[in-house]
Amino acid sequence: MLVPRADSVCSASSSTKSGYRGRFAPSPTGPLHYGSLLAAVVSYLDAKSVNGQWLIRIEDIDGPRTQNGAITSILECLESHGLVSDQPIVYQSQRHDQYTSLLQRLETAGFTYRCPCSRKQLLVSGQHTAQCRNEDLDGLETAIKFRSPNRKISWLDGIAGDVTLAIEDDFVLKRKDGIYAYQLAVVADDIAQKITHVVRGSDLIDSTPIQLAIYNALDIRPPFFSHFPVMTSLQGQKLSKQNHAPAVDNECAFANLTKIIALLGVKGSANVSSCDEILRYAATQWPSVQLNAISHFDELKH
Ligand code: GLU
Repeated sequence: MLVPRADSVCSASSSTKSGYRGRFAPSPTGPLHYGSLLAAVVSYLDAKSVNGQWLIRIEDIDGPRTQNGAITSILECLESHGLVSDQPIVYQSQRHDQYTSLLQRLETAGFTYRCPCSRKQLLVSGQHTAQCRNEDLDGLETAIKFRSPNRKISWLDGIAGDVTLAIEDDFVLKRKDGIYAYQLAVVADDIAQKITHVVRGSDLIDSTPIQLAIYNALDIRPPFFSHFPVMTSLQGQKLSKQNHAPAVDNECAFANLTKIIALLGVKGSANVSSCDEILRYAATQWPSVQLNAISHFDELKH
């Protein structure tokens, strides 16, 4: 388990063995690639190293971006690698009522305003102005945005250490087309699922100050955040669907896990022959893994 220090600026609840609740929350925009499998394994091992719970949440909030068949493919991939959720799987597409009520709490607390400015318009004006914030226009063509009171947010990251990042501008909570933004949904879900530890790739680190700002506005203690280095291609690019990262081959599940566990620096797993065994073994070795010493993971070669 990645342990928070007592002086953490935004500290998580002190986790006990049984109290740890982690999660893996893929967006079903395509099948899992090796970078996302690494994310699943890292979050799983961190939870299992302390007998914690590990939950799968499908982040299908953005219907138009959800790819046909991706949810089934992701779940099959996880299962074939022995990565099974300890609780029923949660789907964001079924949780609109919860997002509506969290948004209402933020509205009541005075943290929101209605704004018609599109991303394109903001490129011209630079960022939201006092006028945007004060007008609070009603109507169909407005998004609901978060009024960011603090632009710099600090936290103690379980891997990256002390981090301070700026929130560049006010951000969207509900889009003009009525879709709740990822930032709102993820906070609502992590609160509802009582997540104590968020362990995810460093490609998501810019979202953390935004999510911490929402926790602060709600006066709710945030989970403990850890961001591990992402997997890059041999050309040094982050593995992603946009970069045509290949889908994980489930037929090679044991070989995939063996390679990932080796990349993580877990040594001596010679006596294991199944996915369940290798995961169990790696969880026992987890305290010795030094993720903060790794700048990036190289793509798995097959
Ligand atoms: N759904 C996000 C993704 O697939 C991850 C969200 C998170 O871990 O907070 O990139």
